[in-house]
Amino acid sequence: MLCPRCAAALTPVVVDEALDDLEALRCPRCSGHWLERDDLKRLEQVVEVHWVEVRHIPPPREQDVPLLCPRCAPARHLVKLQSERDRKVVMDGCLHCQGVWLDGGELTAIRNKSVWAALVDAVRFLVRG
Ligand SMILES: [Zn+2]
Ligand SMILES: [Zn+2]
Repeated sequence: MLCPRCAAALTPVVVDEALDDLEALRCPRCSGHWLERDDLKRLEQVVEVHWVEVRHIPPPREQDVPLLCPRCAPARHLVKLQSERDRKVVMDGCLHCQGVWLDGGELTAIRNKSVWAALVDAVRFLVRG
């Protein structure tokens, strides 16, 4: 699978051993992470979560081209998501396969409970469509 941001090949990594060896695909060039729906669903079992609203937010600049889902073919645009739980975390999610993309460093720099919970919020939002 290729990075939706810079098209480098994504490599599997364990992002948190404390969370049942949660896995993601990481881009070696831009440090973004792609999390598959099944990985995100596993989070629900290890992080205590309560539903918090997720908003579909517009991209920062209108001329920004939306990212394409690295999994779906034909390609689908990812939608920008932000959990009310932690507004610092902005994600791109695919409404079709329900995977979530986090830009470089967002996952590793702010590795805390609210980030994981925000990811679960996002996948719930995507499942509902
Ligand atoms: Zn990349
Ligand atoms: Zn997809």
